[in-house]
Amino acid sequence: MTWHAKMSASASSRWLECPGSVQLAERMPDDDVSLPSATGTAAHQLAEECLKTGRYPARYKGKRYHVDGFDIEVDDAMVYGVTLYVKYCNLLHSPGDMRWIELDVTKWMTTLHPWFGGTADFVTYDQELRLLSVVDYKNGSGVYVGVEENPQLMYYALGAYRMLRNSSHPPEHICVHVVQPNYGDDDPIREWQVPLERLREFQQEIVDAAAAAELDTPPLKAGDHCKFCPAKLHCPELQQHTQLVQAREFEILPALSDVQLGRAMSILDAVEARCKAIRAEAYKRLMRGDKVPGQKLVEKQARRHWTNEVEVVARATNDPEVVTEDIYQAPKLKSVAQLEKLVGKKAFAERYGDLTDSRSSGYNVVSDGDARAPASPTQASPDEFDNI
Ligand code: SF4
Repeated sequence: MTWHAKMSASASSRWLECPGSVQLAERMPDDDVSLPSATGTAAHQLAEECLKTGRYPARYKGKRYHVDGFDIEVDDAMVYGVTLYVKYCNLLHSPGDMRWIELDVTKWMTTLHPWFGGTADFVTYDQELRLLSVVDYKNGSGVYVGVEENPQLMYYALGAYRMLRNSSHPPEHICVHVVQPNYGDDDPIREWQVPLERLREFQQEIVDAAAAAELDTPPLKAGDHCKFCPAKLHCPELQQHTQLVQAREFEILPALSDVQLGRAMSILDAVEARCKAIRAEAYKRLMRGDKVPGQKLVEKQARRHWTNEVEVVARATNDPEVVTEDIYQAPKLKSVAQLEKLVGKKAFAERYGDLTDSRSSGYNVVSDGDARAPASPTQASPDEFDNI
């Protein structure tokens, strides 16, 4: 069975905000598996294999990985994403540099606190330049992963730095990188140079969080970070926030002060996450035959499907009421991102770059901890609520 640190790098954005989640999450069953997370694990296994053997990801197309009960096949999308990551790692690493694939930083982090630990995807160190580079691969497409002030990356960087700090050539420059090929049109590779001073501050922040997490009654704080908390279904703090949101009368919304509205917004993601978790739990129980009072399973609406497309075409061709071309849909041009994926980034820029531009379709409300620069709407009407 895989060992998970109680205060792992991957969960650091949650426990830095809510130290109380560490003990609460410990008591939860370890059954938080999903197809996207299993696919991410398979992509990481493929990337590790490719970096270690030097083989191209395309050679593994069709291979199957068995992860958390899912059977994941290496498809074109996975080959594309992992190729980008592997190429980037190889680009960062020059001959003569040190490198680690899947570096377990636990040994150097547990000297700070026994609950710390984690594994960095890729680390390379140029002794001459004293440059330490840490790369994290993100297979997901749903959540944008920023690089600046990303606690998971700083955690890995800190572990790798602590591993090398007593060597004859300790690191002086630290750069962290995120490779996220499947997230929309944004540049899939981001990097941030972490000032050493910031890394030392970060070390203190995680040590303080660990001290708080160990208290008999550790502090709980709800927010965006609850989305990925294994305790969200059972957490008293989140439950209290949910009740607060429920208690608000919709009619009094316009009368809320900006501060009250900001507070309500900051917990909305967490409350939504809790609702999603409740639905998922009810679905799981009903599927295994349990009775959940007031709830039942029904079949999704059935949609009609062709059972024999060749026969449909044959009949339609002889149907006097039908013009054969009309039975087909018009071809649709691929999106910019899809065509770029098809021809490759460089060739795309040369051949089609002048035919694209970037236009935002509007505005989203996000927490001010989000890495993106704030927008200054000039034309948006405050009534464009439906677009949010
Ligand atoms: S659900 Fe939110 S408030 Fe509750 S323990 Fe998890 S992170 Fe903390």
